[in-house]
Amino acid sequence: MGAQHTDPGNALRMKGLKSTPARRLMLAAFSEEENRLYKPLEIYDIVRKAEPGISFSTVYRNLESLAEHGLIEKITLEGTARYKLLVESTHRHHMICLLCHKAEPLPYCPLKQMEETLKNKNSRHGFWPVEHRVEIYGYCQECRNSRPSGPANQ
Ligand SMILES: [Zn+2]
Ligand SMILES: [Zn+2]
Repeated sequence: MGAQHTDPGNALRMKGLKSTPARRLMLAAFSEEENRLYKPLEIYDIVRKAEPGISFSTVYRNLESLAEHGLIEKITLEGTARYKLLVESTHRHHMICLLCHKAEPLPYCPLKQMEETLKNKNSRHGFWPVEHRVEIYGYCQECRNSRPSGPANQ
């Protein structure tokens, strides 16, 4: 979908990470469906097909390190951690579908204005914001169309 699919090995080296077969496999899987939220176990199953000896904890550690280096991002869905490709290095928010688990980026940041208000020196809060995280959970158009009488269409 129009996004640049750079070579996983290059992407890893650009972030200062060693390009290992497992990491390349993981990044390739994430790139294949860039809006999909993967469970750690799903990634483990994908990597294990090509690297049968790999352990779940190794895959999990690699997920954490890819996320730390800004190649993928960690998003909580139904109380558990999921991972998806980080499409841009700029900060983003997502609309996450509770049925099909796709995450569409919001086209803008809804909290920029609020941060500016807090930073205003006349603000009585005296608080300096540096980061925020917002994800919006709901039902995507496709899922709403396929369930016309569901709770999402009242
Ligand atoms: Zn959906
Ligand atoms: Zn924001």
